[in-house]
Amino acid sequence: MAITDKTRKALWAKSGNRCILCRIELVQEVESSNSNLIIGQECHIVSEKGKGPRANPSFKGNYDDYNNLMLLCANDHKRIDDLTEIYTTEKLLQFKQNHENWVRTTLEKDVTAFANDQENIRSLPLIKSGKQLLDIINGVHMSDFDNEELNTIEEAEKVGNLFDLLKDYIDILEDMRMTDIAKLGIELNGEIAELKEMGFLVFGTKRHIKLRGENFKDLGAFETASIVIVRKDNPSIVSDFLIAKFSNKMNFGF
Ligand SMILES: [Zn+2]
Repeated sequence: MAITDKTRKALWAKSGNRCILCRIELVQEVESSNSNLIIGQECHIVSEKGKGPRANPSFKGNYDDYNNLMLLCANDHKRIDDLTEIYTTEKLLQFKQNHENWVRTTLEKDVTAFANDQENIRSLPLIKSGKQLLDIINGVHMSDFDNEELNTIEEAEKVGNLFDLLKDYIDILEDMRMTDIAKLGIELNGEIAELKEMGFLVFGTKRHIKLRGENFKDLGAFETASIVIVRKDNPSIVSDFLIAKFSNKMNFGF
């Protein structure tokens, strides 16, 4: 038996097009093209091969049924099949249930949350090094920086300092010498570490943002550095990603 279209549709819909374990978007835009890159994998919980992951001779039913399948990213697919002592059948079924509940309750709060997924919900990876930050700001035309509400002057200075530093370098990074870029990376490592000590995490990615001017005139798409600083207990953090709504459009001239 193969996985039917009906089962496949249910699997993608109930998972909200996200990996059940890390919640990364499984349909991602490919840079400079209109097509979508599909990185989701439809994985068997109980393998139908005798010695495959979680194989169970007493398994009754259809291996390609919805109940025996889950949607994962390639990394997590490999992980669950390599570490079967950790990722048992029972655990995976529980993860799948939890994830589907999360998708459903998110949809109850906001019915458009996933309908317009490409424009709304984004997964921003956790930034762990200055080098990662420099890769994000290198060659962009705009910055889109944001942070969670800050409580003290000290917090405001620390967060503001990182954003100011990045803004200063966006325009000149391309002309800088490799040695200076490397040194800047190390300085930024220190900034990230100090923010972490204060309880903040940095997330970021490059995005294409469509700009609209007066009368909604389309000004084209611009490569943008999106960087968000939030407290480490922010509920939108799911493993190494910040999942949040980010608009793909910006309006000017109103
Ligand atoms: Zn994953």
